[in-house]
Amino acid sequence: MLNRLIIQLCLLIVISGTIAEVLHSFGVNYIFGVIMGIAIQYGLYNAFVYALDSYTLLKAKKLENEKLKELSYQLTEVTCPCLQKTKELIPIRLNEPTQYKCNACSKRVSVFVQTETALVTEPIADTSIGGMDELIKSKINESAG
Ligand SMILES: [Zn+2]
Repeated sequence: MLNRLIIQLCLLIVISGTIAEVLHSFGVNYIFGVIMGIAIQYGLYNAFVYALDSYTLLKAKKLENEKLKELSYQLTEVTCPCLQKTKELIPIRLNEPTQYKCNACSKRVSVFVQTETALVTEPIADTSIGGMDELIKSKINESAG
């Protein structure tokens, strides 16, 4: 950690010194050249960090989009309408038309999703804790007595 800091400081001084030397040969003040060198390196470093951050963010966003796309697919088993009646597991999406190529007859097959509705019913008794037995016994007792 300390070694890295020392190396970076040495690089900063050497590069700033070089820039100052070059500027000094054009008649610019040496101290002003060093300050210019440091400012240029600082600007370049910030630009590099900004570019790296943007790249990483873009990549993360792309990965997230791919993940979301994968999640929106559901696998379902379908039967080809050909003579072989081949069953296949295919990815399906509800918000776009789905087609696949049958492995047996190699024809393109369209998939249509049909929905069905049913009323939700409440259980009469909780069967998981033997409540049904109690219910049947009480019903028998009621009819006997
Ligand atoms: Zn087929």
